Amino acid sequence: MINNTEQLFKALGEKGISISDAEKKEIEEVSKKYPVRISDHYFNLIDWNDDNCPIRQQCIPNIKELEKVKGYKEDPLNEGKFEKTPFLIHKYYSRAAFMCSNSCYMLCRHCTRKNTVMSGKPASKDVLPAALDYLKKHPEVNDILITGGDPLAISRDLLEYFIQGFRSVPTVNTIRIGTRAIVTEPDIITDELCDMLAKYRPLWIFTQFNHPKEVTKEAIEAANRIQMRGIPVGDQSVFMRGINDDADILVELYTKLIGASIIPYYLYICDRVDGTAHFYADYKKGMEIVEKLRYRLPGYGVPKLIIDADGENGGKVPISINHIICENRDFIELSGNKEGTTTRYDI
Ligand SMILES: *Cc1c(COP(=O)(O)O)cnc(C)c1O
Repeated sequence: MINNTEQLFKALGEKGISISDAEKKEIEEVSKKYPVRISDHYFNLIDWNDDNCPIRQQCIPNIKELEKVKGYKEDPLNEGKFEKTPFLIHKYYSRAAFMCSNSCYMLCRHCTRKNTVMSGKPASKDVLPAALDYLKKHPEVNDILITGGDPLAISRDLLEYFIQGFRSVPTVNTIRIGTRAIVTEPDIITDELCDMLAKYRPLWIFTQFNHPKEVTKEAIEAANRIQMRGIPVGDQSVFMRGINDDADILVELYTKLIGASIIPYYLYICDRVDGTAHFYADYKKGMEIVEKLRYRLPGYGVPKLIIDADGENGGKVPISINHIICENRDFIELSGNKEGTTTRYDI
Protein backbone atom coordinates (compact mmCIF):
# COMPACT_ATOMS: atom_id res chain seq x y z
CA MET A 1 0.00 0.00 0.00
CA ILE A 2 1.31 3.43 -1.00
CA ASN A 3 0.25 5.88 1.68
CA ASN A 4 2.20 9.05 0.99
CA THR A 5 4.37 10.69 -1.66
CA GLU A 6 7.59 9.27 -0.23
CA GLN A 7 6.28 5.74 -0.62
CA LEU A 8 5.02 6.60 -4.09
CA PHE A 9 8.45 7.83 -5.23
CA LYS A 10 10.09 4.77 -3.68
CA ALA A 11 7.65 2.43 -5.48
CA LEU A 12 8.34 4.23 -8.76
CA GLY A 13 12.08 3.85 -8.20
CA GLU A 14 11.65 0.13 -7.61
CA LYS A 15 9.86 -0.17 -10.92
CA GLY A 16 12.60 1.80 -12.65
CA ILE A 17 10.21 4.64 -13.53
CA SER A 18 11.85 8.04 -13.46
CA ILE A 19 9.82 11.19 -13.07
CA SER A 20 11.18 14.73 -13.15
CA ASP A 21 11.75 16.85 -10.05
CA ALA A 22 9.12 19.27 -11.32
CA GLU A 23 6.59 16.43 -11.51
CA LYS A 24 7.54 15.26 -8.04
CA LYS A 25 7.00 18.77 -6.70
CA GLU A 26 3.55 18.93 -8.26
CA ILE A 27 2.56 15.59 -6.78
CA GLU A 28 3.74 16.76 -3.35
CA GLU A 29 1.85 20.02 -3.70
CA VAL A 30 -1.43 18.30 -4.64
CA SER A 31 -1.16 15.64 -1.98
CA LYS A 32 -1.02 18.27 0.78
CA LYS A 33 -4.63 19.04 -0.04
CA TYR A 34 -5.76 15.71 -1.49
CA PRO A 35 -3.62 12.90 -0.06
CA VAL A 36 -2.31 10.02 -2.11
CA ARG A 37 -3.15 6.40 -1.37
CA ILE A 38 -2.86 3.56 -3.87
CA SER A 39 -3.24 -0.15 -3.23
CA ASP A 40 -0.45 -2.36 -4.57
CA HIS A 41 -2.98 -4.21 -6.71
CA TYR A 42 -4.13 -1.02 -8.44
CA PHE A 43 -0.63 0.44 -8.72
CA ASN A 44 0.54 -2.68 -10.53
CA LEU A 45 -2.13 -2.18 -13.22
CA ILE A 46 -0.57 1.11 -14.38
CA ASP A 47 1.01 1.05 -17.83
CA TRP A 48 3.92 3.49 -17.47
CA ASN A 49 4.50 3.49 -21.22
CA ASP A 50 1.12 5.14 -21.68
CA ASP A 51 1.07 8.80 -20.59
CA ASN A 52 -2.71 8.72 -20.58
CA CYS A 53 -3.04 5.39 -18.80
CA PRO A 54 -6.62 5.27 -17.45
CA ILE A 55 -5.43 3.57 -14.28
CA ARG A 56 -2.71 6.13 -13.67
CA GLN A 57 -5.10 9.04 -14.15
CA GLN A 58 -7.42 7.70 -11.47
CA CYS A 59 -4.75 7.32 -8.78
CA ILE A 60 -1.72 9.58 -9.36
CA PRO A 61 -2.15 13.20 -8.16
CA ASN A 62 -2.47 15.77 -10.94
CA ILE A 63 -1.71 19.48 -10.53
CA LYS A 64 -5.06 20.27 -12.19
CA GLU A 65 -6.75 19.17 -8.96
CA LEU A 66 -5.69 22.48 -7.43
CA GLU A 67 -7.29 24.61 -10.15
CA LYS A 68 -10.27 26.63 -9.05
CA VAL A 69 -12.86 26.27 -11.79
CA LYS A 70 -15.98 28.39 -12.10
CA GLY A 71 -19.16 26.52 -11.17
CA TYR A 72 -17.30 23.90 -9.17
CA LYS A 73 -17.98 23.51 -5.44
CA GLU A 74 -16.91 21.48 -2.45
CA ASP A 75 -20.36 19.94 -2.04
CA PRO A 76 -22.44 20.50 -5.20
CA LEU A 77 -24.76 17.65 -4.22
CA ASN A 78 -25.75 19.51 -1.06
CA GLU A 79 -25.33 16.38 0.99
CA GLY A 80 -24.59 18.41 4.11
CA LYS A 81 -28.03 19.92 3.90
CA PHE A 82 -29.75 16.54 3.85
CA GLU A 83 -27.87 15.12 6.82
CA LYS A 84 -30.78 14.34 9.16
CA THR A 85 -28.82 12.75 11.99
CA PRO A 86 -25.01 12.57 12.06
CA PHE A 87 -23.82 10.58 9.00
CA LEU A 88 -27.36 9.80 7.77
CA ILE A 89 -28.36 11.54 4.53
CA HIS A 90 -32.01 11.41 3.59
CA LYS A 91 -32.43 13.04 0.21
CA TYR A 92 -34.59 10.61 -1.76
CA TYR A 93 -38.03 9.67 -0.49
CA SER A 94 -37.54 5.94 -0.03
CA ARG A 95 -33.83 5.55 0.63
CA ALA A 96 -31.15 6.98 2.86
CA ALA A 97 -27.35 6.90 2.80
CA PHE A 98 -25.21 6.27 5.86
CA MET A 99 -21.71 7.69 5.29
CA CYS A 100 -19.93 5.62 7.89
CA SER A 101 -16.39 5.58 6.49
CA ASN A 102 -13.89 8.27 5.55
CA SER A 103 -11.23 5.93 4.23
CA CYS A 104 -10.65 3.82 1.15
CA TYR A 105 -8.06 1.35 -0.12
CA MET A 106 -7.35 3.87 -2.82
CA LEU A 107 -8.02 7.59 -2.92
CA CYS A 108 -9.54 8.15 -6.35
CA ARG A 109 -8.47 11.44 -7.88
CA HIS A 110 -12.04 11.91 -9.19
CA CYS A 111 -13.68 11.25 -5.80
CA THR A 112 -16.98 13.08 -5.51
CA ARG A 113 -16.53 13.42 -1.74
CA LYS A 114 -12.89 14.49 -1.75
CA ASN A 115 -13.75 17.80 -0.06
CA THR A 116 -16.38 16.50 2.36
CA VAL A 117 -16.68 12.99 3.80
CA MET A 118 -13.08 12.06 2.95
CA SER A 119 -11.68 14.95 4.93
CA GLY A 120 -14.12 14.46 7.83
CA LYS A 121 -14.42 11.94 10.63
CA PRO A 122 -15.63 8.34 10.39
CA ALA A 123 -18.78 7.28 12.24
CA SER A 124 -18.46 5.68 15.65
CA LYS A 125 -20.87 3.27 17.35
CA ASP A 126 -22.65 5.99 19.29
CA VAL A 127 -24.15 7.63 16.16
CA LEU A 128 -26.28 4.61 15.34
CA PRO A 129 -29.15 5.06 17.86
CA ALA A 130 -30.08 8.47 16.45
CA ALA A 131 -30.01 7.10 12.89
CA LEU A 132 -32.23 4.14 13.84
CA ASP A 133 -34.58 6.45 15.69
CA TYR A 134 -34.92 8.58 12.57
CA LEU A 135 -35.66 5.51 10.45
CA LYS A 136 -38.36 4.38 12.86
CA LYS A 137 -40.02 7.76 12.44
CA HIS A 138 -39.62 7.52 8.67
CA PRO A 139 -41.00 4.15 7.63
CA GLU A 140 -40.99 5.34 4.00
CA VAL A 141 -37.23 4.68 3.98
CA ASN A 142 -37.02 1.07 2.86
CA ASP A 143 -33.45 0.99 1.56
CA ILE A 144 -30.21 1.89 3.33
CA LEU A 145 -27.07 2.63 1.38
CA ILE A 146 -23.98 2.17 3.55
CA THR A 147 -21.17 4.12 2.00
CA GLY A 148 -18.52 6.76 2.72
CA GLY A 149 -15.57 6.31 1.94
CA ASP A 150 -15.49 2.57 1.75
CA PRO A 151 -17.47 0.70 4.43
CA LEU A 152 -15.21 -2.32 3.87
CA ALA A 153 -12.28 -0.19 5.08
CA ILE A 154 -13.64 0.22 8.64
CA SER A 155 -13.30 -2.53 11.21
CA ARG A 156 -15.38 -5.63 10.50
CA ASP A 157 -16.96 -5.50 13.95
CA LEU A 158 -18.05 -1.91 13.53
CA LEU A 159 -19.42 -2.59 10.05
CA GLU A 160 -21.40 -5.57 11.32
CA TYR A 161 -22.69 -3.48 14.23
CA PHE A 162 -24.06 -0.91 11.77
CA ILE A 163 -25.53 -3.49 9.39
CA GLN A 164 -27.13 -5.39 12.26
CA GLY A 165 -28.65 -2.14 13.52
CA PHE A 166 -30.22 -1.28 10.18
CA ARG A 167 -31.44 -4.86 9.75
CA SER A 168 -33.27 -4.59 13.08
CA VAL A 169 -35.58 -1.88 11.68
CA PRO A 170 -38.61 -3.76 10.29
CA THR A 171 -39.37 -1.14 7.61
CA VAL A 172 -35.87 -1.44 6.11
CA ASN A 173 -36.11 -3.91 3.24
CA THR A 174 -32.79 -3.79 1.40
CA ILE A 175 -29.32 -2.84 2.57
CA ARG A 176 -26.72 -1.77 0.03
CA ILE A 177 -23.00 -1.37 0.45
CA GLY A 178 -21.00 0.90 -1.83
CA THR A 179 -17.37 -0.25 -2.10
CA ARG A 180 -14.57 0.04 -4.61
CA ALA A 181 -12.51 -2.64 -2.86
CA ILE A 182 -13.58 -5.23 -5.46
CA VAL A 183 -11.65 -3.14 -8.01
CA THR A 184 -8.84 -1.70 -5.92
CA GLU A 185 -8.09 -4.30 -3.21
CA PRO A 186 -9.98 -7.48 -4.18
CA ASP A 187 -8.17 -9.78 -1.74
CA ILE A 188 -9.82 -8.13 1.28
CA ILE A 189 -13.12 -9.62 0.07
CA THR A 190 -12.53 -12.81 2.01
CA ASP A 191 -14.87 -15.77 2.48
CA GLU A 192 -15.26 -14.75 6.14
CA LEU A 193 -16.33 -11.24 5.17
CA CYS A 194 -18.80 -12.59 2.60
CA ASP A 195 -20.23 -15.06 5.15
CA MET A 196 -20.79 -12.20 7.56
CA LEU A 197 -22.54 -10.05 4.93
CA ALA A 198 -24.70 -12.97 3.76
CA LYS A 199 -26.35 -13.12 7.20
CA TYR A 200 -28.05 -9.79 6.49
CA ARG A 201 -29.62 -10.45 3.09
CA PRO A 202 -31.38 -8.99 1.17
CA LEU A 203 -28.12 -7.14 0.73
CA TRP A 204 -26.68 -5.72 -2.46
CA ILE A 205 -23.16 -4.57 -3.24
CA PHE A 206 -22.35 -1.78 -5.68
CA THR A 207 -18.87 -1.08 -6.93
CA GLN A 208 -17.20 1.14 -9.49
CA PHE A 209 -15.39 -0.16 -12.56
CA ASN A 210 -14.44 2.58 -15.01
CA HIS A 211 -12.21 0.82 -17.50
CA PRO A 212 -11.86 -2.73 -18.89
CA LYS A 213 -8.28 -2.88 -17.54
CA GLU A 214 -9.77 -2.85 -14.04
CA VAL A 215 -11.71 -6.05 -14.69
CA THR A 216 -8.91 -8.31 -13.50
CA LYS A 217 -9.04 -11.99 -12.58
CA GLU A 218 -8.73 -11.00 -8.92
CA ALA A 219 -11.61 -8.51 -9.15
CA ILE A 220 -13.85 -11.06 -10.87
CA GLU A 221 -13.03 -13.67 -8.25
CA ALA A 222 -13.83 -11.21 -5.46
CA ALA A 223 -17.18 -10.41 -7.09
CA ASN A 224 -17.85 -14.13 -7.49
CA ARG A 225 -17.23 -14.81 -3.78
CA ILE A 226 -19.94 -12.25 -3.01
CA GLN A 227 -22.39 -13.42 -5.68
CA MET A 228 -22.04 -17.09 -4.67
CA ARG A 229 -23.70 -16.15 -1.40
CA GLY A 230 -26.77 -14.68 -3.03
CA ILE A 231 -25.57 -11.09 -2.87
CA PRO A 232 -25.89 -9.35 -6.26
CA VAL A 233 -23.05 -7.11 -7.40
CA GLY A 234 -23.83 -3.97 -9.43
CA ASP A 235 -21.59 -1.42 -11.06
CA GLN A 236 -21.71 2.37 -10.97
CA SER A 237 -19.17 3.85 -13.38
CA VAL A 238 -18.14 7.46 -13.83
CA PHE A 239 -17.98 8.86 -17.36
CA MET A 240 -14.57 10.53 -17.58
CA ARG A 241 -12.65 12.39 -20.23
CA GLY A 242 -9.73 10.46 -21.64
CA ILE A 243 -10.58 7.42 -19.52
CA ASN A 244 -13.81 5.93 -20.81
CA ASP A 245 -15.61 8.57 -22.92
CA ASP A 246 -15.53 6.21 -25.87
CA ALA A 247 -18.09 3.67 -27.11
CA ASP A 248 -15.56 0.90 -27.83
CA ILE A 249 -14.04 1.15 -24.34
CA LEU A 250 -17.45 1.05 -22.67
CA VAL A 251 -18.63 -1.86 -24.83
CA GLU A 252 -15.53 -3.77 -23.74
CA LEU A 253 -16.05 -2.77 -20.10
CA TYR A 254 -19.70 -3.78 -19.92
CA THR A 255 -19.14 -6.96 -21.94
CA LYS A 256 -16.56 -8.03 -19.37
CA LEU A 257 -18.78 -7.04 -16.46
CA ILE A 258 -21.86 -8.94 -17.58
CA GLY A 259 -19.54 -11.84 -18.37
CA ALA A 260 -18.72 -11.78 -14.65
CA SER A 261 -22.43 -11.48 -13.72
CA ILE A 262 -21.92 -7.89 -12.56
CA ILE A 263 -24.91 -5.71 -13.40
CA PRO A 264 -24.29 -2.33 -15.08
CA TYR A 265 -26.47 0.05 -13.04
CA TYR A 266 -25.44 3.69 -13.40
CA LEU A 267 -22.99 5.64 -15.52
CA TYR A 268 -22.50 9.05 -13.93
CA ILE A 269 -21.76 12.33 -15.60
CA CYS A 270 -19.04 13.89 -13.38
CA ASP A 271 -20.32 15.95 -10.49
CA ARG A 272 -19.13 19.58 -10.34
CA VAL A 273 -16.76 18.87 -7.46
CA ASP A 274 -13.71 21.03 -6.71
CA GLY A 275 -10.55 19.29 -7.80
CA THR A 276 -12.16 17.08 -10.46
CA ALA A 277 -12.97 19.46 -13.35
CA HIS A 278 -10.33 17.91 -15.62
CA PHE A 279 -12.28 14.63 -15.62
CA TYR A 280 -15.52 16.16 -16.89
CA ALA A 281 -16.75 14.66 -20.16
CA ASP A 282 -19.68 16.22 -21.97
CA TYR A 283 -23.13 14.87 -21.14
CA LYS A 284 -24.25 15.02 -24.81
CA LYS A 285 -21.33 12.81 -25.77
CA GLY A 286 -22.44 10.53 -22.94
CA MET A 287 -25.97 10.30 -24.37
CA GLU A 288 -24.67 9.51 -27.85
CA ILE A 289 -22.34 6.82 -26.53
CA VAL A 290 -25.04 5.18 -24.40
CA GLU A 291 -27.24 5.11 -27.51
CA LYS A 292 -24.44 3.18 -29.27
CA LEU A 293 -24.26 0.80 -26.31
CA ARG A 294 -27.96 0.13 -26.80
CA TYR A 295 -27.21 -1.26 -30.28
CA ARG A 296 -24.14 -3.21 -29.28
CA LEU A 297 -24.97 -4.76 -25.90
CA PRO A 298 -27.78 -6.83 -24.41
CA GLY A 299 -30.33 -4.57 -22.76
CA TYR A 300 -29.18 -5.53 -19.28
CA GLY A 301 -25.62 -4.58 -20.21
CA VAL A 302 -26.51 -0.92 -20.73
CA PRO A 303 -26.35 1.33 -17.64
CA LYS A 304 -28.59 4.32 -17.04
CA LEU A 305 -26.75 7.56 -17.72
CA ILE A 306 -27.20 9.81 -14.70
CA ILE A 307 -26.72 13.47 -13.93
CA ASP A 308 -26.66 14.20 -10.22
CA ALA A 309 -28.06 17.70 -10.48
CA ASP A 310 -27.02 20.42 -8.08
CA GLY A 311 -29.22 21.97 -5.52
CA GLU A 312 -32.28 21.32 -3.51
CA ASN A 313 -34.57 19.84 -6.14
CA GLY A 314 -31.86 18.04 -8.04
CA GLY A 315 -30.57 14.63 -7.26
CA LYS A 316 -30.00 11.80 -9.67
CA VAL A 317 -31.83 12.14 -12.97
CA PRO A 318 -31.47 9.65 -15.86
CA ILE A 319 -30.78 11.25 -19.24
CA SER A 320 -30.85 9.79 -22.74
CA ILE A 321 -31.48 10.91 -26.29
CA ASN A 322 -35.15 11.22 -26.99
CA HIS A 323 -36.34 8.00 -28.61
CA ILE A 324 -39.65 9.55 -29.63
CA ILE A 325 -38.63 11.51 -32.70
CA CYS A 326 -42.10 12.71 -33.64
CA GLU A 327 -45.51 12.30 -32.17
CA ASN A 328 -48.96 12.91 -33.70
CA ARG A 329 -52.56 11.71 -33.49
CA ASP A 330 -52.00 8.54 -35.53
CA PHE A 331 -48.51 7.37 -34.76
CA ILE A 332 -45.25 8.01 -33.00
CA GLU A 333 -41.91 7.72 -34.71
CA LEU A 334 -39.15 6.06 -32.72
CA SER A 335 -35.42 5.74 -33.19
CA GLY A 336 -34.91 2.08 -34.02
CA ASN A 337 -32.85 -0.75 -32.73
CA LYS A 338 -30.22 -0.46 -35.47
CA GLU A 339 -27.97 2.57 -35.59
CA GLY A 340 -29.50 5.34 -37.70
CA THR A 341 -32.89 3.69 -38.29
CA THR A 342 -36.36 4.83 -37.25
CA THR A 343 -39.64 3.03 -36.95
CA ARG A 344 -43.34 3.86 -36.67
CA TYR A 345 -45.73 2.72 -33.99
CA ASP A 346 -49.40 3.30 -34.83
CA ILE A 347 -51.62 4.57 -32.07
C1 LIG B 1 -27.21 7.86 -4.74
C2 LIG B 1 -27.85 8.05 -3.46
C3 LIG B 1 -28.82 7.16 -3.01
C4 LIG B 1 -29.28 5.97 -3.82
O1 LIG B 1 -29.89 6.35 -5.02
P1 LIG B 1 -30.47 5.26 -6.03
O2 LIG B 1 -30.94 6.05 -7.20
O3 LIG B 1 -31.56 4.53 -5.32
O4 LIG B 1 -29.35 4.33 -6.38
C5 LIG B 1 -29.39 7.40 -1.79
N1 LIG B 1 -29.04 8.48 -1.05
C6 LIG B 1 -28.12 9.36 -1.46
C7 LIG B 1 -27.81 10.55 -0.63
C8 LIG B 1 -27.47 9.18 -2.69
O5 LIG B 1 -26.56 10.05 -3.10
